Amino acid sequence: MNLIKVGIAGIPLAKKGKGMEAGIQYLFNIGLDAMEVQFTRGIFMDSVAAKKVGQLAKKLGIKLSVHAPYYVNLASTKKKIIEKSKQFIINSAKIASKMGATIVVFHAAYYLNDTNDTFALVRDACEVVGNEISDDVRLGIETTGRQKQFGTLDEIARLMTDVDKIIPVLDFAHIHARGNGSLRRKEDFIAVFDKFDQTKFHIHFTGVEYSNGNEKKHIPLNDELNFRHLAEVLVKREYDATVICESPLLERDALKMKEIIVDVQG
Ligand SMILES: [Zn+2]
Repeated sequence: MNLIKVGIAGIPLAKKGKGMEAGIQYLFNIGLDAMEVQFTRGIFMDSVAAKKVGQLAKKLGIKLSVHAPYYVNLASTKKKIIEKSKQFIINSAKIASKMGATIVVFHAAYYLNDTNDTFALVRDACEVVGNEISDDVRLGIETTGRQKQFGTLDEIARLMTDVDKIIPVLDFAHIHARGNGSLRRKEDFIAVFDKFDQTKFHIHFTGVEYSNGNEKKHIPLNDELNFRHLAEVLVKREYDATVICESPLLERDALKMKEIIVDVQG
């Protein structure tokens, strides 16, 4: 059985403006297996629409995940912002559950002056949110691409020991950018996975431009951040992984990634 699913963030370029269902059908037609529904600029679906989308995705075997709004900040000095952020995640999770998506991905927070305070606030908020969402959905805490954002590998690993229902979302472009180009060899990719115990991972991948340890922009796949290294680790360790392509070429690069996985699988 193929444990590695490959898909894209949002609607494929070929179906821009044509809606979710046309997008999902197209991904199936070209041989991809997953879509991350982008609520990044707002939760644009209600329960009825989500159910319909979920039924089609299930029929076609397209695995769905959800990306919560970018406005989330669980460590603000303003209580109101924390409450609003929790609500963004809870509402995203509700719609996710309706469409059969099992993970809500989000960037947890920006650092306060004291990183321990930041961690405590994020942990407390995740605990509350985790209790509010239905059991079929997991909180996907994403590794972030900027120095001022909460979300290093160690922070997420530590959070997982404190709070249930968390799955790490490994955004390799973010990790690479934040480490100012730290993922060069296959061993570098192995070290990322070795921070965690489980065998199930949700992954974001794209080429990336960065400077001074901060992500600047997504670019097409290239040899600097080499997808083949990742593919080799995923295949060798038989991980249950969903890989979401976030390159500007979306489905074109996702198909390339899938080709590389098939090639590695031999
Ligand atoms: Zn993200």
